[in-house]
Amino acid sequence: MFISIENVCFCYDPKERAVDGFSMKIEKGEVVSILGPSGSGKSTLLRLFAGLEVPCEGSFTIEDVVIFNDKSFIQPEKRGIGMVFQDYALFPHMTVEENIAFGLNKMKKAEKKARVAEVLEIVELTGYEKRYPHQLSGGQQQRVAIARAIAPNPNLLLLDEPFSNLDAELQVKIRKDLRNILKAAGITAIFVTHDENDALAIADRIVQLKDGKIVHSGRPCDILGAQ
Ligand code: ADP
Ligand code: ADP
Repeated sequence: MFISIENVCFCYDPKERAVDGFSMKIEKGEVVSILGPSGSGKSTLLRLFAGLEVPCEGSFTIEDVVIFNDKSFIQPEKRGIGMVFQDYALFPHMTVEENIAFGLNKMKKAEKKARVAEVLEIVELTGYEKRYPHQLSGGQQQRVAIARAIAPNPNLLLLDEPFSNLDAELQVKIRKDLRNILKAAGITAIFVTHDENDALAIADRIVQLKDGKIVHSGRPCDILGAQ
């Protein structure tokens, strides 16, 4: 199994578990949605996976590398995990290509340029290299954020409510694009959403969360069938 998550727990307040015994296994290239209402623990889970919070229990391994368990904790920047934030967090003073190249500082100049071109092609924004974020639509900014996150070839990509900043019409159009981008890049991804339609349209597997606990897990067709 590519990713193994076991019994992850986290409390902000000692009396209440924001995440309570979260376990799952993920195959390489799989796209998983964590679906739940506001307050169910989705953001906390992403913060735990990214290394922005320290769990009180549990373990997380990617390809036999322990990311955290009761004895060890790899720092966020060393995890090889990419993240797309709700507000995209693009650098406003940098062009599209500068934003994407930002995380590739270990590469030589020519190699960097080639990788930027490659990911821009995946997100279908070839030709937009010299634009600044404010010259792009919301959907285009989102695709730049995804390109930036996948450029260093992360082991895992985390996306926080990828559609919350887009209007409803664009959201419908872009769901399919997001799935295609993730599949074209062969990226293993976890995205969190409160919107069942996002989860159904994009994920290979849906994990439903309530009060920090998994209440259901299955393929989109199983979830649809259960209702
Ligand atoms: P979601 O992302 O699904 O809306 P969160 O992970 O933000 O859920 O929150 C899970 C639970 O943890 C909620 O009960 C929330 O009130 C609580 N919580 C979230 N962040 C904090 C915090 N910084 N301090 C205290 N409690 C928090
Ligand atoms: P997408 O579906 O990719 O989000 P839109 O249909 O929203 O794209 O935008 C169409 C065109 O309008 C794009 O070429 C984009 O660059 C341009 N555009 C959208 N919003 C802005 C903006 N705020 N400033 C400049 N150009 C914009």
